[in-house]
Amino acid sequence: MVIDLRRCIGCDACNIGCKNENNVPTGFFWAHHILEQHGEFPDYRYRYIPTLCNHCGNAPCVAACPVEPKAIFKLPNNITMNSQERCIGCRACEFACPYGVIYYNPRDEDVHAEWQTVEARAMVERVGGDTIPWSNPDPGNTWAAIRRPHKVEKCSFCHHRVEVGESPWCTVVCPATARFFGDLDDPDSEVSRLLAENEYFVLQPEAATDPQVYYINDFDQKA
Ligand code: SF4
Ligand code: SF4
Repeated sequence: MVIDLRRCIGCDACNIGCKNENNVPTGFFWAHHILEQHGEFPDYRYRYIPTLCNHCGNAPCVAACPVEPKAIFKLPNNITMNSQERCIGCRACEFACPYGVIYYNPRDEDVHAEWQTVEARAMVERVGGDTIPWSNPDPGNTWAAIRRPHKVEKCSFCHHRVEVGESPWCTVVCPATARFFGDLDDPDSEVSRLLAENEYFVLQPEAATDPQVYYINDFDQKA
């Protein structure tokens, strides 16, 4: 994924769209952001960097998982995926990830993927009568439709969409067209062209995880 910070307006549509698409519970963020503010008015700087799993080529979360076969693992297309069936909830991956993008479900019972909508449903029903809030069943096509107790979860690059030739939903809902998804092994892909034509950086390069989320910016500050 390439995120063009020259275009990003910091609107949070990616964060919210991800929650809708993946039924991400309250307090969990498969898509999130870093917000930095520097200086004092009028010499003031604001920096918003969207964040998500970097789907690292050299993923410490995978190396740390003690389960065999791994409960967090690489797919042939380099997506870092996790299995709620195999996960034993030890949280080793969460502690190994330098980016803080893995979330642990502390609940003691199975919860349907739409658990996060329970409070929203109650609120909407209070206000609007029998209106049922929308919950997306599609992630259940390739991931857990049931969130099991004491398991981890994180961004899957919308695996259920990629599997059918679609891009992650965050790239679709971005109103500034700042997010691009594609095949970096294809020199003619849009992501390859963007990285060939622009300066870019990755988060925490010193961690040597080979992150696969690239940021373009031409400002004077870099992460
Ligand atoms: Fe694993 Fe974290 Fe890298 Fe994602 S960002 S692949 S969870 S180490
Ligand atoms: Fe593997 Fe689950 Fe432990 Fe993470 S919490 S290291 S996925 S078993």
